[in-house]
Order: sequence, then C-alpha cells, then structure tokens
Amino acid sequence: MNGSNSCGLIMALTLGVVVVVIGGCSHPISPASQFAVKTDVPMAADETAQIPARREMKAAAIKSIEEVATKLNDPEVNELVAFFKQNATLVLPRPEGFRVLDALNSERPFYLACLVPEDSSLNETWAQSVSGDKAVASFQPDVRLMVLRDQKSMTSVWNAVYILHETHHARDFLLTPYDWQDTRTFCMKELAVHEFQNRIVARLGGEIYKAALNDEVVAMRKKVFDSGLKIGQGLPGCPDYEARLDRIFGPAKNEYEQRARMSSLWIHGLFELIDRYDKNGDDSTKSQDAKEEDKALTMKTIYRQNEVLPNP
Ligand SMILES: [Zn+2]
Repeated sequence: MNGSNSCGLIMALTLGVVVVVIGGCSHPISPASQFAVKTDVPMAADETAQIPARREMKAAAIKSIEEVATKLNDPEVNELVAFFKQNATLVLPRPEGFRVLDALNSERPFYLACLVPEDSSLNETWAQSVSGDKAVASFQPDVRLMVLRDQKSMTSVWNAVYILHETHHARDFLLTPYDWQDTRTFCMKELAVHEFQNRIVARLGGEIYKAALNDEVVAMRKKVFDSGLKIGQGLPGCPDYEARLDRIFGPAKNEYEQRARMSSLWIHGLFELIDRYDKNGDDSTKSQDAKEEDKALTMKTIYRQNEVLPNP
C-alpha cells in the first residue's frame, strides 16, 4: 500500500464544500466469490421478461458513446467504443451471481449488468448496487463486471462520459491486469482515467468550458492563499458552477447530474492548479512526474473523503 507521497505535500484540509460524484469507481460491491458465473440454471418467466429492458439499456449505452465518438473523432474514444462493443457481454443478475446472456466469443470479454429495479429483490448485494447514490456506471476488476444503472438519470452525453470512464478502466485492466487493491496503483489508474475524462469533457464543452475551467482555477488559487495556505496544502471545495454548466452542456436532468458535472469540473480544476502553479502560486517548474505524484495524491484524498478508499 502507498505510504506518504514523495513530494511531502499534505492535503488534509478541505476549503469549502465538497460534494463529489466520482465516476462510479466504487468499493467492490461484494466478494468476488459471490459472482460465480451460473449458466446452467433454468430461467424463470420474470427473468425472461426483463431481458428486453436490459438489452435496451446496453443499446442505449452504445448509442450514447457512439454519438460522442462521432462528435469528437478522437482515436482513444474510438478505441474505447470499439472495445465496449466487442467485449461487453450482457449478463442477468441472479441471487448467486449472474447468468451470461450474450455469446462469450470475444478475446477479452467483460460482463455487463444493466440493472433494473427488480434486481434489488435478489439479495442485499444487488440491492445495494441498485439503490443509493451510485454512479451511473462502475467496473469491478476481479469479476470483470461493469454495472450500468438507470441511464435516464443523466443526459446522453454525460452517460457517455461515465461509461467511457469505466470502459477505460475495463480496457486497462483486461489488457494489463494490475493490483487494483493497492492504493498507489488505484490512484495512478484513476489519475490516468480522469486525465482522459478531462480531455474529452473539454473537447465536448469547447471554448466556453475552457473559460469556466480557467475561472475555476483562478478561484481555487485565491481560495488557497486567502486561507493562509500554499498550493498543495488545501483542497478547495467543489464549485457552484451549475448555471454556467447548463449554458455549456444544456440543462442537467436533475441534481445528480448537476453534482456529477460539477465534480468533473472540480477535479479538472484541481489538476490544472497542479499543472500551472508551484506551492507559492508562481508558474510551476515541476517535472511531469512530480505533477503526476501531486495529482495521484489529490485522487487519494478525494477517494478517501468519499470512503472509496479506506481511511487509515
Ligand atoms: Zn475511475
């Protein structure tokens, strides 16, 4: 497990409110053993009846990420869309695990559970996965399981952002398995995926997004120094940029999407703060590696505050 970071920065203080929705990179929802794959049990009538809704969710997920790929024409996005289409293998949640519905004929399949409300009655594990303040998508590496929740809770473009985020994790893990329970490795992977998310959100939002981001970075810098701290010593709170984000991306569907978009802008701002400034607020002269360390530490702080990573 990771000890203290090599730069000696402390991010224990939080300045202002932090209301964060993280891209579904949550705790494992159960021990891997609970997800043994079952294919040999007869299907009940109500299970058969749920299959079209699950297939529709998978189709909607593909449509949303394809729309973003068409908009951006970005090689990495195109690759992730192809990876999802080729490898996402639909499963049916069952009390003892899940039943595979699609043919397992890809090179690197991962399981895709598109949840419906009825899944909450299967057992406590699935009930927890359906309910609560969960992200729209998550990926659990040990069982190669991606979960998609109610996609109606966000607009298509933001569903796509979070599905692509999780597909990035799935691709990284399936191509080169890593120790995802090691804190440092977890943080470095999150850092890479958030850099990707920042890049595509900036392209989707265009110049007005970049202006909002710039304003936020300036505000964060001021917040840190107004508190008598230095850059890296405080984690400025999440911004209230909803009206501005509505102008950039269109109205959010609900409060959940508002929070998700603000969290995304906030994390992007924190990374920019590290890229631009040294601890005294001057232009940063740090190496790329040192900046990565600082960003990984930021990830660790955020994921600890949100109890995704255990607090020591
Ligand atoms: Zn993630």
